Amino acid sequence: MGRILMIGAGGVATVAAFKIVQNQDVFTDFMIASHHKAKCDKLVDAIHAKGYKMDIKTAEVDADDVEQLKKLFNEFKPDLVLNLALPYQDLTIMDACLACGCNYEDTANYEPKDEAHFEYSWQWAYKDKFEKAGLTAILGCGFDPGVSQAYTAYAAKHEFDEIHDLDIVDCNAGNHHHAFATNFNPEINIREITQKGLYYENGKWIETAPLEIHKSLTYPNIGPRESYLMHHEELESLVKNYPTIKRARFWMTFGQQYLTYLDCIQNLGMSRIDPVTYEAPLHDDPTKTVKVDIVPLQFLKAVLPNPQDLGANYDGETSIGCRIRGIKDGKEHTYYIFNNCRHQDAYEETGMQGVSYTTGVPAMAGAMMFFKGLWRKPGVWNVEDFDPDPFLDVLNKQGLPWHELRDIDLEL
Ligand code: NDP
Repeated sequence: MGRILMIGAGGVATVAAFKIVQNQDVFTDFMIASHHKAKCDKLVDAIHAKGYKMDIKTAEVDADDVEQLKKLFNEFKPDLVLNLALPYQDLTIMDACLACGCNYEDTANYEPKDEAHFEYSWQWAYKDKFEKAGLTAILGCGFDPGVSQAYTAYAAKHEFDEIHDLDIVDCNAGNHHHAFATNFNPEINIREITQKGLYYENGKWIETAPLEIHKSLTYPNIGPRESYLMHHEELESLVKNYPTIKRARFWMTFGQQYLTYLDCIQNLGMSRIDPVTYEAPLHDDPTKTVKVDIVPLQFLKAVLPNPQDLGANYDGETSIGCRIRGIKDGKEHTYYIFNNCRHQDAYEETGMQGVSYTTGVPAMAGAMMFFKGLWRKPGVWNVEDFDPDPFLDVLNKQGLPWHELRDIDLEL
């Protein structure tokens, strides 16, 4: 019996839902709950339209409201709650899981709505509570965070005696043919990219201006792409779990057009996350006005293309991996483990583009590890705390095969 309740019905959730339905030997009972039930029903229709058969329950829930969540969990009684809503809801969903005896998994660490700041401390603070309740919480099981940590754990287990340098490299060489669009939730994405950069070197965290450090990196099957150093959450747990690491960095590619638009958005104040008061015409009587508080970034999300609609015309591919240098048998060793994912392949299978696909598949794979009893231990855990082998084996079979290169120039 594998009863899973997925919260969210966006791009990532759509891919995870397809993958859950494709693995009904593990997932026997499935409910999708989100802000709007109609969106969940539409997703179920899309799954059935592709010929898959499964009785999928749907429900409406405000995941900011612990009482609503508790009511839903007590009705459906899931073994695992898969949180594919937004990082803002992580703590409320964890609270409801504790109250109802449910296990927990997500793909992004908690972020307060009024502060673009992400770190694991808030969720790690739940460790004792989950331990005492005998419940498992798996944090950050998308691609990065997620697979990036499983790749590192795999390298530590099979390739190295000591890891010294770790560069996580994330390239999207796709083209969606829109002037500007984000590949996952625009609000979360723009908050992340406009933050200061951060990397780890010789026991210290070093802060940079946003996207200040950049260089060209060469990606398999893609070629050279300008890559920007960013703060990314998994670095925090990886340097803690692998204390031999001397330097850990995260790089992501951006095209010049994307960066020009991002600059304009910031200069216009549209990336602000504090409310501004706007005098809006009344819906029923436009001659009258009412003062409303609008968060510019949330308004921007409403006018930008929905990442869920990008798939049809998206060509090209993503390439995400870990470039690692360290010591094996007393000698220097370099290792590059990566996956390339074509947007069109993702679209044909699930109707979503590659970035949703590379997040949704690992989310399902993590849930599968839980139900198979392979990733099940009371407490709050990051992906590298578990055995990477069975997880990477599942990714190989479920659309995200990985490849390895050894003793090459890693451009570190
Ligand atoms: P979307 O915005 O497409 O989907 C979010 C979903 O959550 C929507 O269905 C939305 O409903 C729902 N939702 C939002 N707020 C609430 C709420 N209060 N209660 C109930 N449902 C709610 O986002 P994505 O699918 O692009 O991203 C999902 C998650 O995946 C995010 O946390 C993102 O950070 C993470 N992610 C992780 C990556 C990784 O590699 N680890 C990479 C990419 C994304 P509605 O639209 O009806 O409001």
